[in-house]
Amino acid sequence: MTAGRGLIFLGAPGSGKGTQAQILATDLQIPHISTGDMLRQAIADATPLGQQAKSYMEQGELVPDDLILGLIQERLGQPDAQKGWILDGFPRNQSQAEFLDNLLTQIHHEVGWVINLHVNDDVIVQRLLQRGRADDQEETIRHRLEVYREKTAPLLAFYQAAQKLHTVNGDRSMEAISDSLRMLLTT
Ligand code: ADP
Repeated sequence: MTAGRGLIFLGAPGSGKGTQAQILATDLQIPHISTGDMLRQAIADATPLGQQAKSYMEQGELVPDDLILGLIQERLGQPDAQKGWILDGFPRNQSQAEFLDNLLTQIHHEVGWVINLHVNDDVIVQRLLQRGRADDQEETIRHRLEVYREKTAPLLAFYQAAQKLHTVNGDRSMEAISDSLRMLLTT
């Protein structure tokens, strides 16, 4: 991947984007930047950010943008992100997408592909119930899916219009999905 070029993983909770993002990041030797992981770490460390984010996450709501935007700006400025990066869980709404666009222009980075890992809702609920993370209760899962549909799914059209979007069927084996992604990135 050329300098300052990144990938964005979009997809509903439980689509498997975190797993695929991690595999690709290892392959490409670029950082996997997951806002969900960063927030969970902040909660584990009981930082002020973690304390502010916790109740939103437990309820399946997005945490307020002002908690996230600075975090992303700082992370994309780190030395290990200068060759490229994979964003997982960001952007998650229109204002985050606009912030990212402006930030990338400023720091001379660009979005290579936006990967939409697509999985049907019933499969998602089953997967998340099995995962059993703190915010993986059925009611919270359904709420996160609603939030996804309302706030995040509209970004698909935004990146489609920018001719960046590539949809991949996420209802396949981990290996089959990784192979599709590798093929996409080497063509
Ligand atoms: P999932 O994809 O299963 O929803 P994540 O780890 O991506 O898991 O996110 C877990 C939670 O963290 C979200 O429900 C939300 O509360 C919070 N979160 C993560 N990323 C963002 C973001 N970019 N903006 C706002 N909230 C976020």
